[in-house]
Amino acid sequence: MQIENEWIADLGYYEPGKPIEEVARELGFDCVDEICKLASNENSLGPSPLAVKAMKQAAEKMHFYPDGGSHYLREKLATRLRVHLEEVIVGNGSNELLEMIATLYLSKGKNIVMADRAFVVYRLAAAARQAGVKAVPMKAYRHDLDAMLEAIDEQTRIVFIANPNNPTGTVLEPEEIDGFMRRVPDHVAVVFDEAYIEMMEPEDQPDLIQYVRSRPHVYVLRTFSKAYGLAGLRVGYGIAGKREIELLNRVRQPFNVNAMGQIAALAALDDEAHVEKTRLMVKEGLAFLEQSFGEMKLEIVPSRANFMLVKVGEGRRVFEALQRKKVIVRPVAGYAMPEWIRVTVGTAHENKRLIHAMKELMQEGVILS
Ligand SMILES: *Cc1c(COP(=O)(O)O)cnc(C)c1O
Repeated sequence: MQIENEWIADLGYYEPGKPIEEVARELGFDCVDEICKLASNENSLGPSPLAVKAMKQAAEKMHFYPDGGSHYLREKLATRLRVHLEEVIVGNGSNELLEMIATLYLSKGKNIVMADRAFVVYRLAAAARQAGVKAVPMKAYRHDLDAMLEAIDEQTRIVFIANPNNPTGTVLEPEEIDGFMRRVPDHVAVVFDEAYIEMMEPEDQPDLIQYVRSRPHVYVLRTFSKAYGLAGLRVGYGIAGKREIELLNRVRQPFNVNAMGQIAALAALDDEAHVEKTRLMVKEGLAFLEQSFGEMKLEIVPSRANFMLVKVGEGRRVFEALQRKKVIVRPVAGYAMPEWIRVTVGTAHENKRLIHAMKELMQEGVILS
């Protein structure tokens, strides 16, 4: 027997950074502790200590199903962001929210518009609904919003904009976003993906939630996976109009966010000091990496997030060689950047390990400037 939707066999899939344990096993290292994982833009400081404490206390309550509506977390987020409770939804990572939004708007014959070097999950979400992808070339590694507006046609249903963008780390100016929002046609939903927004200084963070108020079908997505250091728990959230949130709730699994995740996220929101510490680590780390890559005469894309693209010659080969030196980074050939790797900013110690290993590879002729 064959499955009904045979086109599913041809879908691409997300290739995650390998867990440290798997790399250790493959390369025959006995100790996972010495491996630096700078591949998935996680927070090297770990979760907020307040979240860890809350989780330990909650462990004995895990026989209960979670609060299906993530009520307390939504309430806290709504207060924090000055929106209504009914304008907030919590997802199993913001990834789930991307999927749910795709379910609302996409089907065969429709399409999405995105930047060609923006987060790959948008493509996958469209493809899984047999929708087309209009990937618009970036300009100097930034979203080209004018070209994206041009690309919108009658069948376009969603425009995805990641700000800061992954894997480039670049951001848009508020005026650029404003001009885009004034011109984007009504038949298109706009999804702003702010997975890395907390990495920016508070005064530099653009106010995109205002656009949820300005017109229907605008979504702002954020996550606890990056600055909050809770990637393992899978908690993300979205802000949109009441009507849109209502519709998302129709396609949401009843217990989509696990209880431990809700408890940790609530506690993490009370730990602004941890986010500030993270921001400082990232700021100092970016400066250190920029300076080191400059000395090594390696081209970079200046970043506002907790990662950076650096041009090394053969990205895949350098990725593999670094892995043998116990540093895991991310090759980005999937983003049509085979000469580059993406490195996550870690602790000062991890960043030094990375640069040390890269300098060795340069001497060995594996990295070419
Ligand atoms: C990491 C990331 C996400 C999703 O993270 P979740 O863990 O699913 O919340 C979303 N968008 C971008 C651009 C990311 O890099």
